[in-house]
Amino acid sequence: MNVARASWSLAAVLLALVVGWVVWPEPPPPPLPPLAVPPPEPPPGPDVLTLEIEIRPGTTFGALAMEHGLPLAAVLAAASPHFDLTKVRPDRVLEFVYQDGDAIPREIRYQPDEDHGLVLTRTGDVWTGRLDEVVYASVLGVKDFVVTRSLWADGVAAGIRPNDLVRVARIFEYELDFNTELAPGARIGLVAEILSAEGHTDRLGTIHAVRLINGSDTYEAVRFAPDGRAEEYHHPDGRGLKRPFLRSPLEFSKVTSGFDQRRFHPILKETRPHNGVDLGAPTGTAVRAVADAVVLVAGKNGGHGNYVELDHEGPYKTSYSHLSSVAVKKGQKVRQGDLVGRVGSTGLATGPHLHYQMWQNGKYVDPMSIALPNMSAVTDAERAQFVTEVKRWLPMLPDDPAE
Ligand SMILES: [Zn+2]
Repeated sequence: MNVARASWSLAAVLLALVVGWVVWPEPPPPPLPPLAVPPPEPPPGPDVLTLEIEIRPGTTFGALAMEHGLPLAAVLAAASPHFDLTKVRPDRVLEFVYQDGDAIPREIRYQPDEDHGLVLTRTGDVWTGRLDEVVYASVLGVKDFVVTRSLWADGVAAGIRPNDLVRVARIFEYELDFNTELAPGARIGLVAEILSAEGHTDRLGTIHAVRLINGSDTYEAVRFAPDGRAEEYHHPDGRGLKRPFLRSPLEFSKVTSGFDQRRFHPILKETRPHNGVDLGAPTGTAVRAVADAVVLVAGKNGGHGNYVELDHEGPYKTSYSHLSSVAVKKGQKVRQGDLVGRVGSTGLATGPHLHYQMWQNGKYVDPMSIALPNMSAVTDAERAQFVTEVKRWLPMLPDDPAE
């Protein structure tokens, strides 16, 4: 796609609007009757030839430059503030634009990514470069597909980019795990701003509403972002799609040792990452599940002593170490606030405390500083505004085949 041309067409449209305004301050005249004869040929312009060069695997920009008589150093230098042309990718296209029988191109174009076009221009022997933003046209549209192979394969086949599929999956990440819980035949429909540009895969702008039919479960989400607040997705009845977490598994406690990737271990006498926080509390203090979960591990676990690990909805897991007693069994479902065990000093512990760990997408995170999802229900004051959104977007979703 030609970025410069897209910007130019936009400018031309704007110009036409402005000119139209000047020429016709009154209502515009009725449309002209169809032309009986073709319009006259436009006057001859400069002779322009655009050569599209597919970058084959193993080809370098240096080799192409030599083949086409380009001054490599000057071209690379002009591009360098914007993009390193030695890193052109084999699945992309370089455009060389020649004018009036030039021996050397007048312009070189390349798209380093989906949103940018690099344009290098030659004036005499001097090369200059610029990076243009791709201009996307936005229309409200609908996407609808059935998962027969995988979310990714079927979503991409339906013209949705992987990045946008991730956005859709995140909307429902507290409802289900898209990797393991998506049933064959699941259907995803959404209404969104569809952004398109010549030569580009469509991308999704704002996603207004999504419906996921998974087996016998139907999930619906409507976007809500009142007064420029960060967008959130809600059930159509106003409930938030994100679930609350307790900030701490202990009701009253203080952090005695923080999350530290380079801590000197008091017992092992060596630098070891401290992948959780230590919460000081007397033996026997109740340890609560920080959120609804399924118990993954309950029992002895080496230096962790008596240990409980919980799998929460969304990308989170938590664990609780050095317990004096364990109150749950593997596979059991627990609700937020349920007792999972009691503080102790089993395993490698200098004294009674809770070693509390949290994972997000399989990586340790600091449970005391991570921005945890909030309970995000629509407030009474916002309800009328939210209902307007629901009434506007839900009916635009593709039909639910079950209805
Ligand atoms: Zn610890």
